[in-house]
Amino acid sequence: MELTLLGTGGMLPLPQRHLTSLYAEHEGRAVLIDCGEGTQVAAARFGCKLSRIRAILFTHRHTDHVAGLPGLLLSLGNTGRTEPLPVYCGEDCVQTIRHLTAVTGGLPYPVTVHPLPDHRETHLPLPEIDPGFSADTLPLDHSVPCLGYRLTLTKRPVFDPERARALGVPLPDWKRLHSGESVRLPDGRCITQDMVTAAARAPLCIVYTTDTRPVPEIALFARGADLFVCEGMYGTADKHESMEAKGHMLMQDACTLAARAGAARLWLTHYSPAEKTPEQYTDALQTLFSGTVISRDGQSLHL
Ligand SMILES: [Zn+2]
Ligand SMILES: [Zn+2]
Repeated sequence: MELTLLGTGGMLPLPQRHLTSLYAEHEGRAVLIDCGEGTQVAAARFGCKLSRIRAILFTHRHTDHVAGLPGLLLSLGNTGRTEPLPVYCGEDCVQTIRHLTAVTGGLPYPVTVHPLPDHRETHLPLPEIDPGFSADTLPLDHSVPCLGYRLTLTKRPVFDPERARALGVPLPDWKRLHSGESVRLPDGRCITQDMVTAAARAPLCIVYTTDTRPVPEIALFARGADLFVCEGMYGTADKHESMEAKGHMLMQDACTLAARAGAARLWLTHYSPAEKTPEQYTDALQTLFSGTVISRDGQSLHL
């Protein structure tokens, strides 16, 4: 899976900082989380192909997370798209998405809006990306209803030639077993895929939580994540009270959550426009959680 953080800003885009959005691509099919003003510009800048987007997820209805949708939908229409585009968002966000879709004035493909419960966790299979791909939601604690997402990709089992050889499976049948089919041997035995694969591998997990106060549920939600993308508006403790009042958190809060979650790495994002040089906090934040990355626009990772 290829992951690209298209922007790292919160509230408003800056000349050198796009708004927070994550593009996750698996075998040529991508999901986008959030689409603020200019997200399609950031996608082009970092080589993320809009035509590969199979679904869009929204965290909440604030402008810095949704306002880029109409332009992106029009651009998708210009790529010749005809297949439906599913959009998933909390119930509170649905009307905003419908309005933003309406201003495009008609598209050559349908946009289907799927409301998700705002106040309870939901499991959402996303076969548009892969049969083993899904998203789980977590209601966050912001000034309006907001959802965190945990993306999970179940890894296909690895074919084990030694086991196939030991069972006497002829070479021409290996490909069929590899693709999931069963094979019947001349002696009548039926060989299934699980008989010729190595032990199951842990799924890939990517967690995305912005905007929210640092509620303890987030640490559980992000447990063991391969990548935890989390907001961190400021890096100084004097902003603690105002962040609490506005429904946000500090970079330090995100690091503490990542440590509690046992995440492999943390990408900080959604910096305040007033926070001009977040990288100045790197050393201090890495003492809280060694896997902390002060993300920049275009931060990418292959998992
Ligand atoms: Zn925001
Ligand atoms: Zn917000």
